[in-house]
Amino acid sequence: MNELQKELQVQLEKFRLDKIEPTAEHDDANASFKKEIFNELGALGFCGMTIKEEFGGAGLGYSDFCVALQEIAKSSVSYAVTVSVSTMVQGIIERFGNEEQKKKYLPELTSGKEIGAFCLSESGSGSDAKALKTTAKKVDGGYILNGSKMWITSAGIAKTYIVMARTGATGSAGVSAFIVEDSSEGLTFGKKEKKMGWKVSPTREVLFHNCFVPSENLIKEEGQGFKVALGGLDAGRVTIGAIAVGLSERALDESVKYSLGRSQFNQPIFDFQGLQFMMADMATELEASRFLVSKAAELLDSGAPDSKLCSMAKLKATDVVMKITTDAVQIHGGAGYTSEYPVERMMRDAKVLQIVEGTNQIQRVVIARHLKKQYQG
Ligand SMILES: Cc1cc2nc3c(=O)[nH]c(=O)nc-3n(C[C@H](O)[C@H](O)[C@H](O)COP(=O)(O)OP(=O)(O)OC[C@H]3O[C@@H](n4cnc5c(N)ncnc54)[C@H](O)[C@@H]3O)c2cc1C
Repeated sequence: MNELQKELQVQLEKFRLDKIEPTAEHDDANASFKKEIFNELGALGFCGMTIKEEFGGAGLGYSDFCVALQEIAKSSVSYAVTVSVSTMVQGIIERFGNEEQKKKYLPELTSGKEIGAFCLSESGSGSDAKALKTTAKKVDGGYILNGSKMWITSAGIAKTYIVMARTGATGSAGVSAFIVEDSSEGLTFGKKEKKMGWKVSPTREVLFHNCFVPSENLIKEEGQGFKVALGGLDAGRVTIGAIAVGLSERALDESVKYSLGRSQFNQPIFDFQGLQFMMADMATELEASRFLVSKAAELLDSGAPDSKLCSMAKLKATDVVMKITTDAVQIHGGAGYTSEYPVERMMRDAKVLQIVEGTNQIQRVVIARHLKKQYQG
């Protein structure tokens, strides 16, 4: 970590210990998202870290952003994910939007006053996202959207939605991307999903019923929507990897401390080699994921992103966090299975990291595709 990153980490550690950690278990049990926490993260400059300063961002890189997300995730994967998705939305607008769109939508998102959401998945098209069915029909002055999006992070609390909808034929070439505001007529939200983890982060269906979107909210041209959506995914995968690294670090920390303090057979359980080996593996796998995430972030910052490495970073870090949090519960024994200790929540929060931003099977598909290209051209 460089000096700036160390400073960011210290600042966020204090913030999370003061503002998030004390009620983390209660908020998880009540599925309670506190907008003021997000607003405060924004006021500290953490809600648009990778966006240019002229739009209110911090003008930093993904390497810096990953350090921030790792730290937030130690206390709350949900807030880390809210920040990560909102920043991904900003990244899409900054990269593909026109000047008017950037000026209109970025400042309220970079400042953390408002939240962004990304609407690609539908009930019938998750991994096969290009099969989406939501339609956008061209009318005078804009488009009429009809259909629905499933499992949308921050739906209902976000103000700005990037929505992928079909303006043309089947397949990816018929997809366009739109910026849709929460106040749009014909836009409604489904009930909050009851989930295994990420309980503080609301996930809802987003429904479009003759929802009018003005022409100026089309991102790029018609038919470019799938490219726009994929354009955010490399960075999105690395940031999910960073969240996994933060969560793994916390779970290892809890495990070592607990095992040093808990005695059985007249000795700390840490001294049993069976548990030592488990924690040695946890520490090693954690560092392996950290290096992979850092390298992928570094390449994103260098302007030469490596999609294969982004997938590898997401795959490794999220498979590792599932193993580490599961082992953390094991090391805590019966206590680890109760909400008295945070490892129970951590294990639940880890699971969906293997599913979002492309499941880990899809990451393997992407990596294998790159390998084939490498060998066969
Ligand atoms: C809490 C949460 C938040 C989310 N937030 C968002 C969001 O903000 N925006 C958004 O657009 N989406 C979001 N999603 C949706 C998420 O991206 C999808 O759930 C994910 O892409 C998988 O799609 P699916 O659920 O339809 O599973 P499916 O695609 O039906 O997959 C089911 C299983 O089949 C496997 N599979 C599918 N295709 C292949 C293949 N080719 N090879 C091998 N295995 C395969 C999958 O890996 C998986 O194990 C969220 C989901 C959750 C649970």
